[in-house]
Amino acid sequence: MGNAAIVGINWGDEGKGRMVDLLAQDYDVVVRYQGGGNAGHTVENERGKFALHLLPSGIFRPGVRNVLGNGVALDPENLWKEIEDLRASGVPIGPENLSISDRASLLLPWHRRLDGLEEGRLGDRRYGSTRQGIAPFYSDKFQKKTVLAGELFYPERLRRHLTELLEWKNLTLTGVYGAQPEDLEALLAWIEDYGAKLRPFVRDTGALLRQAQAAGKSILFEAQLGALRDIDFGIHPYTTSSNVIAAYAPVGSGLPGAKLDQVVGVVKAYSTCVGEGPFVTEWSGPEAERLRAEGHEYGAKTGRPRRVGALDLVATRYGVQLQAATALALTKLDVLSYLDEIPVCVKYLVDGRETEDFPFPAALDAAQPVCVTVPGWKQDIRDVRRWEDLPQAARDYVLLVERAVGCPIRYVSVGPERDSIILR
Ligand code: GDP
Repeated sequence: MGNAAIVGINWGDEGKGRMVDLLAQDYDVVVRYQGGGNAGHTVENERGKFALHLLPSGIFRPGVRNVLGNGVALDPENLWKEIEDLRASGVPIGPENLSISDRASLLLPWHRRLDGLEEGRLGDRRYGSTRQGIAPFYSDKFQKKTVLAGELFYPERLRRHLTELLEWKNLTLTGVYGAQPEDLEALLAWIEDYGAKLRPFVRDTGALLRQAQAAGKSILFEAQLGALRDIDFGIHPYTTSSNVIAAYAPVGSGLPGAKLDQVVGVVKAYSTCVGEGPFVTEWSGPEAERLRAEGHEYGAKTGRPRRVGALDLVATRYGVQLQAATALALTKLDVLSYLDEIPVCVKYLVDGRETEDFPFPAALDAAQPVCVTVPGWKQDIRDVRRWEDLPQAARDYVLLVERAVGCPIRYVSVGPERDSIILR
């Protein structure tokens, strides 16, 4: 089976969760390698419908070991809530199926506060953050001003470390934002509470992964968001604050030498984008409302209506290249069944010049979509399970995408349920 990464090709919300849930059956270990609880993977299976934020999507599969790697933003509050919610729905979660890297940094209460304070300061110029503290968290991580999960095993040292960090962070809270300082006693009570809850899960997951690898086990690396949100290669500054691309999976998971045998890129059959920033193929008015309603395009974490538009093949090709995808899953093809004709963006027009290359972020504001229109299939395809049973127009649509982005589409998803999938 080897190792594989499942990653987003576009702006996120492509349906990665449903693909990990489907493919996890073939893997022994599922690792989340970056990001925090700021987005959501929606998974529908025989247990119900779940919005996962931080937990790896392999958590529903008996026998699968799930790992939160060193690259994640470990938010103890959100993680604990997620664990409790899933347990309440009958999903067993314990140290036997979930491990947290001792090298993961903790997202602390002031990160969420600072995220909100900075978005408030920016006003109309805000980044559209989910205000979960991710940007302040990663800034602090790279300043070495966070605590590691493994420090939970060294209470005296942890106390000293948190006291120092709080002294420093209060300078920013009060001096820069004029906000209330954080209280040391409250912080220590917080860490004691969540520390006790999470400590049983914390271990050297690098060693665990190396052992798994040596034993010939297969590892699935799970990403959050999509290539266009990558801190280095995305639509800066409307990106997230970590590397989401597959190349970071070995580092963020704790197995830096890992070789990815497969990279499965997930692409949605049309484009959506949450939050601010350039979105070249965006629709507006009733056209957008209809697509949003058909696709249930509301954020899994925030409930925010997602911006929607025609499939952007320029951005998708760029995403496929960034991810070095070896195969693609095209999701939500069923959502397009209502359209008589389907516009697809094949090029951009930038300053009077046509281009098939994704431009530098600063040039995106001036980019106009150049679309072709292809016939719709106008029939319900949710029950189709074989490629040859798809209407010709639907197959043509898939083939057009495949040709344009230069990567084989191995899976076509026609519904949110685990088995609503066509294998090619
Ligand atoms: P992720 O963050 O990439 O996992 O994506 P989200 O979970 O935010 O969004 C994907 C949404 O689409 C979820 O509600 C899924 O249940 C749903 N979904 C995934 N694949 C399909 C599909 O092929 N058809 C339909 N109709 N819904 C899908």
